[in-house]
Amino acid sequence: MKEITTNEFKNEVLNGGKVAVDFYSSECPPCEALAPKFENLSKLYGEDIKFIKIFRQENRDLAQSLDVNGSPTVIFYNNGELVGDKLTGGIKRSELISNLNALIPEEKVTEITKNIKRRVSEYDTLILGGGPGGLTAGLYLCQARVNAVLVDTMLPGGQISSTHKISNYPGFIEPQPGFMLAHYMSEQTKICGAKYKVAVDVTNLDLINKTIVVDEYETIKAKKIILATGASPRYLNVPGEKELKGNGISYCATCDAKYFHDKEVIIIGGGNTAIEEADFISKFASKITIFHQFDKLQANKEAQEKAFANSKISFVFDTEPRGFEKNGNRVRVATENIKTGEKSTLEADGAFVFVGMKPNTDLFKNALEMDEWGYVKANEDMKTNIDGVYVVGDLRSKKYRQITTAVADGTIAAIAITKELD
Ligand SMILES: Cc1cc2nc3c(=O)[nH]c(=O)nc-3n(C[C@H](O)[C@H](O)[C@H](O)COP(=O)(O)OP(=O)(O)OC[C@H]3O[C@@H](n4cnc5c(N)ncnc54)[C@H](O)[C@@H]3O)c2cc1C
Repeated sequence: MKEITTNEFKNEVLNGGKVAVDFYSSECPPCEALAPKFENLSKLYGEDIKFIKIFRQENRDLAQSLDVNGSPTVIFYNNGELVGDKLTGGIKRSELISNLNALIPEEKVTEITKNIKRRVSEYDTLILGGGPGGLTAGLYLCQARVNAVLVDTMLPGGQISSTHKISNYPGFIEPQPGFMLAHYMSEQTKICGAKYKVAVDVTNLDLINKTIVVDEYETIKAKKIILATGASPRYLNVPGEKELKGNGISYCATCDAKYFHDKEVIIIGGGNTAIEEADFISKFASKITIFHQFDKLQANKEAQEKAFANSKISFVFDTEPRGFEKNGNRVRVATENIKTGEKSTLEADGAFVFVGMKPNTDLFKNALEMDEWGYVKANEDMKTNIDGVYVVGDLRSKKYRQITTAVADGTIAAIAITKELD
């Protein structure tokens, strides 16, 4: 692996055969998460592919000329030609591998795959999921000198990473951008010394024997497991939704509201998230129509009052979406009034769906006692029905899912585990 500057780019990269280039920055958690993966793969593929690192902050013009606008960004070259994917953000080892494999012959891939050494690492506690619940558990365990590892399929932070403003987390007078609060929580736990394995693929979770496989080559064994995989947005499951996801239909205002400057937007939902996010989207959009299945909103009174006072927002009650389709660049939603049966359609530049969340249980479905909605049941100490397995945060069966309740769960599970390990 070699670090280069702009002057060497032509020689080392454009005339360099097969090359993987990592544009990185300092004080960049996703770059830190990528660095060991890039280095590890350079040892495996180094005979066939050159691994180059470029410090983006000091080679800004070069980065911009290559349309590299964030760190980390990994791009691939074959004889001077840009090939493969442009990888950014929480880059997974598997994404790097598939691009590296595409650069070399199949026999070479087989040979390299054979050389991948499997590894077993042991920890006192494995925390699966790095949202507020998992991060808080990590912090408490680390402060109690419990050897803990936090594993996340994405970068740490959880749902708050993509929430535009958090106004109800104690300790902050002003509302905090969600990604900043996520960053503070993640750094606090990391600086304490908790081990992170993030933006990884996770398979083969065995709750009884307390093992999991990360990136298909590392088995992690632990004495205790904390499940903190949280929840994800629920889909409507109506025709056209899957096809238009990310191409007209969004589930994240923070990520996509900016694309609707002076445009018309449809929102489906009437709970806290829908109404609070409508307020945020209205900073960009010219007109918002909210469809809600009930005759009144479920959001808290403060959010409702703000929305009703917002002249850009109008409401259609007792109405459910029946399907979506594209009309040119616009999205058309077919709706039905559930009281009168009246059918209608409305077109807008985009639609946002905020109809609740579902627990992330794919890895351990049917293995644990769950409530009728699929959330994992636990006792007061956050213990599940399997010995040594705990559940915290939005994944847990409970009445209120907030950051404060997730961090409380994480605290309780960590203290309970510390006492048990003692
Ligand atoms: C739009 C929106 C706005 C919100 N606003 C507020 C607010 O203002 N105030 C408030 O208190 N709460 C708010 N919430 C709720 C709050 O975000 C959640 O209650 C909180 O994030 C739950 O934390 P958690 O740690 O349980 O899970 P999450 O935040 O869901 O984090 C779970 C983590 O687990 C990871 N994960 C998932 N599956 C796996 C797997 N198989 N293996 C490993 N890792 C996995 C995910 O990548 C994620 O990082 C909001 C939620 C949303 C969606």
